[in-house]
Amino acid sequence: MLRFAFVNVLSPAELFLLSFGIFAAGLCIGSYLNVCIWRIPRGESTVSPGSHCPKCGTPIRWFDNIPLLSYLALRGRCRRCAAPISPRYFLGELATGSLFLLLFAFRGFSPLLPFYWFFTAALVFAAGVDFDHFILPDRVTLGGMLAGPVLSAAFPFLHHEALWSRGLAASAFGLAMGFGILYLVSVAGRLALRRDAMGFGDVKLLGAVGACLGWQAVLFTVFFASLSGTLAGLALVAFGGKKLASRIPFGPHLAAAAILWMMAGERIVSWYLGLFAGGF
Ligand SMILES: [Zn+2]
Repeated sequence: MLRFAFVNVLSPAELFLLSFGIFAAGLCIGSYLNVCIWRIPRGESTVSPGSHCPKCGTPIRWFDNIPLLSYLALRGRCRRCAAPISPRYFLGELATGSLFLLLFAFRGFSPLLPFYWFFTAALVFAAGVDFDHFILPDRVTLGGMLAGPVLSAAFPFLHHEALWSRGLAASAFGLAMGFGILYLVSVAGRLALRRDAMGFGDVKLLGAVGACLGWQAVLFTVFFASLSGTLAGLALVAFGGKKLASRIPFGPHLAAAAILWMMAGERIVSWYLGLFAGGF
């Protein structure tokens, strides 16, 4: 059940308009994240030159650059040369718009919401780059490890605290825990498998998750990322012709689990604990 804390404040029409506006803003941000995922690892500017067809170089005009709609109208092809445009542009926009709307639906007018939108955008970017290049960008991992303590001191409600010192302490503890857990996993994996089982980018990313969201988010993220990573690995072995030892990026799983925490982490945990409350 969603907690629409604002349901008494807004009429249904206002709620619909606001939801539509948030979805549309998420689509536009997703469109920009697509550009970032492609260009930043290649060292290119994300603002100039404007978007152009990778095949024929024709600049994409504004009416061919409307999220979701242009892709559908052009059936995923360049208007000039008909070269196919990757469906991930469409999917990246749809995913970001949907995540922004879901965060609003679950969080309502919480002061956490703008922070969670921002963290989600950073995680979508990091997941996209990891998916393509097996690298998690330092601007998200190290950036999050640095920004987390600063934001937590300035806005201690990020950790449900009122004092800046307690927000900072929660962030430092989360950072140490996130970094520490995956660092130990990577050392143990190297000893057991005699190769790198875990990229150092994953270690830094979980440190950033802990610094921004706290130690509870770290445990939740490790659990759900391991679960979805294992399922994805088995599915690739079963259906994708991959070997059990082949490399799959773990960053997207960490990012997805951390976003799930921001949406509904406490609810999922209390639902789970409730399973045991009456039984024993
Ligand atoms: Zn073209």
